Amino acid sequence: MGTNLLVRLSPNGGSFECAPGQTVLDAALAAGYWLPHSCRTGTCNSCHLGLLEGAVEHAPTRPDGTDVPAGQCRTCQAVPTAELLLDAPKVPAEPGQRVVTTGAKVVEVSRPSHDVVVIRLQVPPAAGFSFKAGQYASVILKDGAKRSYSMANDPAEAGVIEWHVRRMEGGRFSTHAYDKLKAGGLLRIEGPYGDFVLQPGDAPIVLLASGTGYAPIAALLKTHGAEMARRGAVLYWGGRQRADLYAVDSVAAWEAQYPGIRLVPVLSEAGPEWTGRRGFVHAAVLEDLPDLSAHEVYACGNPLMIDAARSSFTATAGLPAGRFLADAFVVNN
Ligand SMILES: Cc1cc2nc3c(=O)[nH]c(=O)nc-3n(C[C@H](O)[C@H](O)[C@H](O)COP(=O)(O)OP(=O)(O)OC[C@H]3O[C@@H](n4cnc5c(N)ncnc54)[C@H](O)[C@@H]3O)c2cc1C
Repeated sequence: MGTNLLVRLSPNGGSFECAPGQTVLDAALAAGYWLPHSCRTGTCNSCHLGLLEGAVEHAPTRPDGTDVPAGQCRTCQAVPTAELLLDAPKVPAEPGQRVVTTGAKVVEVSRPSHDVVVIRLQVPPAAGFSFKAGQYASVILKDGAKRSYSMANDPAEAGVIEWHVRRMEGGRFSTHAYDKLKAGGLLRIEGPYGDFVLQPGDAPIVLLASGTGYAPIAALLKTHGAEMARRGAVLYWGGRQRADLYAVDSVAAWEAQYPGIRLVPVLSEAGPEWTGRRGFVHAAVLEDLPDLSAHEVYACGNPLMIDAARSSFTATAGLPAGRFLADAFVVNN
């Protein structure tokens, strides 16, 4: 049995303990220290922090960490082997919202398309669960495996979580959710996680979604719609077929719901009846906005779409890298 190891944060001075085998990020979030992170699977690199003192290792079941730059720590995968001092300038000394694990009751299930299920959950008030628009939570399966889903509702609905889950053929949770989940069921969840939240400022906004990547964008729109309209915002929502845009009856009806915000639907495999935009959704953004140097982009969904958008927007349209915010729906997390 090992002992807990202290992790200190520089320069602001927060600290927390890491239990044997626990990752730095899990321990920090459980203690209410919001270290930067996104996928929690060792894929997106957004959780890297400078390792000023101490040492970490990556357990054999985790990505081995050999691609982590020298002097850095991939906090979502790293387990301390000594006390640590991490360079985390944006993390305040005082802890905030903790990640909680709790039961949640399924209160409503609807299926707006052939492969999307909308699930509404109620979390007991005593659990102390809350979130910011754009964040996600995980469902814990019977064997402890976890699957992450972005909240699509306004966080002001206390204790309520709305998830939009796309059924993936052969997928463990998404097929169960689409095929079998009913009101009255119970799920075990943990959260909130993620940094995909609206940044303060005046830059005009491009929202970019593929499929159920619309979910956290819906939460941002419901929560900050007026602020986004003030800054100027347009949503590019991509899918293969018309049915993939499961929350759109018509562009006019959608735009009436979010006054001042434009919607551009883009389909990559539409039939001849489709009169709207065709092709890849990130390419449609570049056609309309070849200069993104003054914009801020919020992109969510398929990891390939996100990679293509990030590299083309920064390389050819002048978008500053720090103004591309994304949540990639990486699988097998
Ligand atoms: C931050 C974040 C937020 C997310 N938010 C959302 C969201 O809002 N909505 C949403 O729909 N999704 C979201 N996802 C994706 C989601 O977490 C799941 O990855 C997705 O639903 C698939 O889970 P599953 O259990 O159904 O499939 P899994 O069991 O994980 O399988 C995924 C796919 O891999 C295939 N597969 C599994 N095992 C094997 C194998 N051994 N060999 C070959 N193929 C295999 C399956 O057939 C399936 O197609 C998010 C992911 C992340 C990281």
